[in-house]
Amino acid sequence: MKEIYDVCIIGAGPSGMMAAIQAGQKSLNVIVLEKKSRPGLKLSITGKGRCNITNSASIKEFVDLFYNGKFLYSSFHAFSNIDVISFFESLNVPCKLERGGRYFPVSDKACDVVNALVKTVKKFAKVASSFKVKSAKQDDNGIFCISGNFYVYARNLIIASGGMSYPATGSSGDGYRFAESFGHSIKKPIAALVPIVLESKYLNELKGLKLKNVEVSLEVSNKIILKEFGEMEFTSFGADGSVILTISSLVSLNMDKGNNINLKINLKPAVSQECLNVRLLKEINKFGQYQVKDMIKEFLPIQFIKPFLNYCGINITKKCSQLTKFDREKMLNTFFEISFKILSTKDIKDAIVTRGGILTNEINQKTMESKFINGLYFCGEVIDVDAPTGGFNLQAAFSTGFVAGTSVYRS
Ligand SMILES: Cc1cc2nc3c(=O)[nH]c(=O)nc-3n(C[C@H](O)[C@H](O)[C@H](O)COP(=O)(O)OP(=O)(O)OC[C@H]3O[C@@H](n4cnc5c(N)ncnc54)[C@H](O)[C@@H]3O)c2cc1C
Repeated sequence: MKEIYDVCIIGAGPSGMMAAIQAGQKSLNVIVLEKKSRPGLKLSITGKGRCNITNSASIKEFVDLFYNGKFLYSSFHAFSNIDVISFFESLNVPCKLERGGRYFPVSDKACDVVNALVKTVKKFAKVASSFKVKSAKQDDNGIFCISGNFYVYARNLIIASGGMSYPATGSSGDGYRFAESFGHSIKKPIAALVPIVLESKYLNELKGLKLKNVEVSLEVSNKIILKEFGEMEFTSFGADGSVILTISSLVSLNMDKGNNINLKINLKPAVSQECLNVRLLKEINKFGQYQVKDMIKEFLPIQFIKPFLNYCGINITKKCSQLTKFDREKMLNTFFEISFKILSTKDIKDAIVTRGGILTNEINQKTMESKFINGLYFCGEVIDVDAPTGGFNLQAAFSTGFVAGTSVYRS
């Protein structure tokens, strides 16, 4: 006779594992199907291998930061950042607070988070690794039939298969197809939190340069639509880093509309134009017979000097005493605004998270159950929610996984 599980979960990422633990703790018979040879592959590379597990922000701040944040309100209440920290502490993974409210495991090892989760999941559920789900359907008796390496039957199905970014970790958008087969609608997945590609003759010289405390503005069709303060890094193709990732989903959206987009960097956001002008005049006088490239070292990292002066149209060997008022004004303005044309974002496969996915208005936000199909649940990044970097996305995966896992029942 075929075995019918109470719950089948597609995907052993953070959301699926959390759902499995919660459902298993209610003595339900749970199976987790994972495409890759081991669970939590993406989780193991989060936070540059350190796993930024959650954030100290309030629930209101969480909701405000998320795209479709209101949908997550109940989940964040049901399983908050404090609950996530207590949960991992109970699994012997103590957490520490860092800059920007970011929580990391004290060990700085994402693998400790993964190992603790996997060990706990295995206490409460069966985990079938290297099991790629091909399709899922429901029969007239409400039993789900999930096909892959073999058939799995279950009274409840939780789709926790993630988004479309970093497909090598297993998340390649399969869940959208499964959801569609049950009548759900999918908002087109686009890259969110992704590096951007710039058109610039200076990239060869700038690549690898990290800038701290800069303000970047996103200009779309001659209008500034977003400003962000923080860190960025030039790469061989363009720019990466926290402020770039934050603005990137708006870049994706506006690229789709065919708009002309520029990245403007303010290198001195904390200084007034007046103060910088006084300092610049002072240094120009001080360096009189020396070349402008020696003077500008007082204001910029060495790697930026040549591109900066080139951008200003000033010969790097020009003596300070020969600088004109026009040269000085050009330098002054460039400190506050150096502009790069944005060509595109990198591909969705290079994105930290996916924007788009299963429409939130088709899911009961208190239970994560489908509004169309009894016994069908969703959790994690497969749903159309996403947030900036800072531990928010993992919190959403844990919270929605918790809600899905506690909401399933033996029907
Ligand atoms: C490089 C990187 C760094 C990140 N760092 C952070 C961070 O520090 N903090 C943070 O909050 N967020 C971070 N994120 C985002 C975060 O990792 C994701 O939002 C989170 O993992 C989503 O969890 P999930 O369970 O929904 O999906 P996933 O973690 O993507 O897990 C989905 C699972 O489903 C499996 N699966 C998919 N299709 C099938 C199928 N057909 N059959 C069987 N199994 C299937 C996949 O193999 C995968 O294991 C980072 C993302 C990346 C790419």
